[in-house]
Amino acid sequence: MIFNIEVNNKEIKAKRGETILKALLRNGIRVPTLCHMSNQLPTGACRLCVVEVEGRDGLIPSCSMPVEEWMKIKTHSPRVIKARKTIVELLLANHPDDCLYCERNGNCELQDLAEELNVRERRFSGNKHQHKKDIVDPSIVRDPEKCILCERCVRTCDNIIGMSAIDFVNRGKKMTLGTIYNKGLNRVNCIECGQCIMVCPTGALLEKSRPGSLQEALHNPKTHVVAQISPTVSVSLAEEFGIKAGKDLNGVINTTLRKTGFDKVFDTSFGLDIVITEIARELKTRLNKESVEMPLFSSDCPAWIKYAEDFEPDILPHLAHIKSPQQVLNSVVKTYYARESGIRAENIYTVSIMPCTAKKYEAVREEMFTDNNPDTNMVLTTRELAKFIKLHGIDLNSSEPELADYPFGIRSSSGKLPAIAGGLTEAVLRSLHQLLTGEDLMNFKISPLRSGNGRKEYKFKIKKKEINCIVVSGMRNVQLLLEELKIGKVKADFVEVTVCPGGCVNGGGQPIGRTEKDLKARMKSIYEIDDKDSIKFAYKNPQVVELYDKFLNMKGHGDNDKILRPLFKKRANL
Ligand code: SF4
Repeated sequence: MIFNIEVNNKEIKAKRGETILKALLRNGIRVPTLCHMSNQLPTGACRLCVVEVEGRDGLIPSCSMPVEEWMKIKTHSPRVIKARKTIVELLLANHPDDCLYCERNGNCELQDLAEELNVRERRFSGNKHQHKKDIVDPSIVRDPEKCILCERCVRTCDNIIGMSAIDFVNRGKKMTLGTIYNKGLNRVNCIECGQCIMVCPTGALLEKSRPGSLQEALHNPKTHVVAQISPTVSVSLAEEFGIKAGKDLNGVINTTLRKTGFDKVFDTSFGLDIVITEIARELKTRLNKESVEMPLFSSDCPAWIKYAEDFEPDILPHLAHIKSPQQVLNSVVKTYYARESGIRAENIYTVSIMPCTAKKYEAVREEMFTDNNPDTNMVLTTRELAKFIKLHGIDLNSSEPELADYPFGIRSSSGKLPAIAGGLTEAVLRSLHQLLTGEDLMNFKISPLRSGNGRKEYKFKIKKKEINCIVVSGMRNVQLLLEELKIGKVKADFVEVTVCPGGCVNGGGQPIGRTEKDLKARMKSIYEIDDKDSIKFAYKNPQVVELYDKFLNMKGHGDNDKILRPLFKKRANL
């Protein structure tokens, strides 16, 4: 039911059952908050969203109070603004004073509020937090001194990701966020997805960066520096530069990286074309055998792999026997490309530009090294790429787009689709159709896989067979599906898993502050690329075909197993 309420002496429409905050936001009235999350129950932890409601003595937190017909509300009265300002001043009283050195300088919600509320002096002086920074994890840095106890990361890790790796510890003044027994994130049940970073309003959670190492490589004349760009990064980088969300900057990123000293720029979609080919082949084989483990699970999300290894080792034989696209392409670069170009593998420095923090963890797994040389030398997130471009003073608007380099710059649009949850399944089914019928799938767009949220189910009918596909994203949804599979409530032939809700378009390394609208724009852009690109099937990528012919299928040349096959193992370090 819709009714009118009075806000700041004007009438606005409100819906029965919604909170005051929701009604205000829908009507374009912004009130600040540091703890609110649109898809989660309110906690009222920060109290910044308080408003004055006529007839009530105290100020009311708008995020947790349902709106009612009789309400007359003031959102920015002097009393309200004074209260908000005091709250921010109290938060700053024991917050470190190193804004100029903080990673989130210029993109910090606390800093923005201090400016908005005109905080210009230190009225309160509290004891600064004295907590140790957690820097041992390969993907995520945790700085409890900068934590303002908004609880967003706790709710994300618990309710969306389903891991509860971080939680409140201690009480009263000593309360902080921590891990079990205060261990490093790498020693608890964190799966490195970085979704906590995406919701942190300050610099308390960040990705682990090593910018010096890349600069050294770029300025070492003996080092051949090679980049690969994930399909998602090209449609999300724009937001870091104030360009319209979803704009495809693929060609401009190629130009930019060359300007900064990269020797070659490749496309991760090439690696994805190999991954899609391998999964389709493996699915075909498993469908034809009675006794093998089914369903087949995707294996390209390293956070999912970490979860399976840590908590569901029985799933390991069900995982597709192929490394992630990042690792496949970098392995190929350090073997085939090294051989063809006459450059020693140890002189090649591979940089993966990813939407993902878990890829940093994946890159340092011991099986991703050959003779002490990592297949992936460096992983940059979309955010880190933006910083790198800004550091080099490059104006994206005046950079003409260029093509990626031969031979791994060629891609099919199938290799772009896995950026979105459901896209890998769509791409695999295109290839599977060709394997089973010898023909291209005419209706290559599989619409049911392009809609829906955390779980999509689709039956692919082919040659009197029905292939049951399930796509799950967000670890909480994955856990529910695993339970259902165990008790036989559902049956599946292929399961695509992405830990980040919606897939890598919403990865933990993407621009902070993304909205639903931004995510939709990124997805739309990927589907438009699929419409426009001339090669739509992974098996039609001519360079992938050539790579199999000249290397991967050649006995004694390509060490196919080492290059393509992962080593999944039960881990016991928790
Ligand atoms: Fe990384 Fe994508 Fe997995 Fe998220 S869903 S952890 S971005 S691979």
